[in-house]
Amino acid sequence: MRYDAVVIGAGMSGLAAGIRLAQAQKRVVVLERHSLWGGLNSFYKRAGRRFETGLHALTNYVPRGTPGVPLTRILRQLRIPYEALRLAPQKGSQTAVRLGSEILRLEYSNDFARMQGSVARLFPAEVVGFERMVAALPGYDYADAQALAVGARQRLGEFIRDPLLVQLLMIAPLFYGSPTEHDMSWAEFGVLFRSIHLEGMARPEGGIRGLLEVLLERYSKEGGELRMRCGVRSIRHERGRVLGVQLDDGSELETDQVFSSAGLVETRALCGMERAHDEADVGRLSFVEVCCVLDSLPETLGHDATIVFFSDGLPLRYQQPPDFVEPRCGVLTCPSNYLTTSPPQEGLMRLTCPARHASWVGLEPHEYAAQKERAVEAMLDSARIFAFDPRPHTLYRDAFTPRTIEHFTGHRGGAVYGSPRKSRDGRTELEGLSLIGTDQGLVGVVGTLLSGIGIVNQTMLRPTGGPR
Ligand SMILES: Cc1cc2nc3c(=O)[nH]c(=O)nc-3n(C[C@H](O)[C@H](O)[C@H](O)COP(=O)(O)OP(=O)(O)OC[C@H]3O[C@@H](n4cnc5c(N)ncnc54)[C@H](O)[C@@H]3O)c2cc1C
Repeated sequence: MRYDAVVIGAGMSGLAAGIRLAQAQKRVVVLERHSLWGGLNSFYKRAGRRFETGLHALTNYVPRGTPGVPLTRILRQLRIPYEALRLAPQKGSQTAVRLGSEILRLEYSNDFARMQGSVARLFPAEVVGFERMVAALPGYDYADAQALAVGARQRLGEFIRDPLLVQLLMIAPLFYGSPTEHDMSWAEFGVLFRSIHLEGMARPEGGIRGLLEVLLERYSKEGGELRMRCGVRSIRHERGRVLGVQLDDGSELETDQVFSSAGLVETRALCGMERAHDEADVGRLSFVEVCCVLDSLPETLGHDATIVFFSDGLPLRYQQPPDFVEPRCGVLTCPSNYLTTSPPQEGLMRLTCPARHASWVGLEPHEYAAQKERAVEAMLDSARIFAFDPRPHTLYRDAFTPRTIEHFTGHRGGAVYGSPRKSRDGRTELEGLSLIGTDQGLVGVVGTLLSGIGIVNQTMLRPTGGPR
C-alpha cells in the first residue's frame, strides 16, 4: 500500500504531524505500536480509576487570541478552537528549596508580576539583574547559535550576582525539559523560562485524555488514518532515500516520506544505521512517578499550590542518581489546584523524581515491587517536607518507573526528554526521513505539538513544494 507520508508514533508530535498532512490532502497513516495513543502523555486505568502519565501542566498558557505565541500558533495551524481545550489556569506554583531548617519558596503564577514580586521580596538586591535577564532571554526559534553554545548557569550569572537565585531559577526549566544533567543551553533555558513563567501553566479540564480526544477527532475529521497496535519494525531505504516501512507483522507500506517520533537513536536502529556513539546518545534522565488518590482535596489539607518544584538542599541533583531514585528533588502536582470549573471528587497528588533506568531493569517481579515501594516511601517523605504527607489520606496509589516508560514509549533508557543530541531541523542521514518530537529538540506537550507541525510544514508543505 502506498502513502504520501507515514508517521511513526501517535504521541503529541505524531498526531500534530498527521493532522497537518491530512489537512493538506496527503494520504497519511499514523502508526502506533501500543493500544493507547499519547506516548509519554497518555492515560491508563487501575482499580477502576483513571490515571494520567505525562501531563502535570500544559505550559505556554496564554489567554485566548494572544498573538505571536506558540499556543495560538498551534491552534491556528491545527484548526482547533481555543475553547476546545477547556484550559483551567494554575492557581499558583512555586520552586521550594530547603536550606538547613528553612524552606525558601519562589512563587509564581500566570501573572508574571507575582514572580517579580517574589524575587523582590527574597532577593531585593537582584531586581534589576533579574529584569535585565528576562529582557535578554533568547526567543523560541533556536536561531541564535551562540545561545545554543553557552550554558544557562553561566549566562544567568552574568545578570544575577546571588548564586542562590541562579540555582532557584534553574530548577523548573530543568525539570520541565532538560535532556542534559545539571545545566542546559541558554537557548533551551530561554524557551522553557518563557513557556513556564512569561506565559504560564494550565490544565485541560478533561486532562490529557480530553486533549488527546480533541487531536484524534481533528485528525479523523481531516481524513487521516490511524493504526493502533501497529509497530514499525524497520524503515526501508536504498541509496540514501526512504522507500517505506516494514511493520511488526512483516507487511510493508510504501512511502517516500517518513516522520519519526521514536527518537534519534531508536530511529537509527529502525534504519539499521546504528552508530558507535549511540550509547552515549541515549538520554540519562528518567523518572519514577507516584500518583496518590486521596480521601480529601489537597486544598482542604492546607496545600493549595498547583505545582511545587522542590530540592532538599543545594546544589540541585538534576542528574541520573547512582541508584534507583533520587527522592530529594522533583516535581509535585495536585491537579485539583487549578482554577477548574469542575473540581474532582477525589484528591490527587502526583510526585515525580529522577531515577536510574539501569537499576530497574532485569529485576524479578517481587524485587521490582519491593524497590518501587521503597522508592515511593522515600519520595513521599519529600512530599511531607514541601507540601503535606499524603499517606494518611491515601485511598489508592500507583507508581511507574523508567522501565514502564521505556516499555510503553520505546524510548531507550526511559529517557523522557530524549537524547542530549538533537536534530533541530529534523534532518537525518536519509532523504525523506525526518525526526519530529522530543529529539527534534522541542519537548513537553506544546513543544512536541509545534515540532510535528513545524517539520511537516518545512518538509512537505512549503509554498514552493517538493522535498528538501
Ligand atoms: C512523568 C512525565 C511527566 C511529564 N510532565 C509533563 C508536563 O507536565 N508538561 C508537559 O508539557 N510535558 C510533560 N512531559 C513530557 C511530554 O509528555 C513529552 O515531552 C511529549 O509527550 C513527547 O511527545 P513526542 O511526540 O515527542 O513523543 P512520545 O510521546 O514518546 O511519542 C512517541 C510514540 O511513538 C511510538 N513508537 C515508538 N517507536 C515506535 C515504532 N517503532 N512503531 C510504532 N510506534 C512507535 C511510541 O509508542 C509513542 O507512542 C512529561 C513526561 C513524563 C513521562
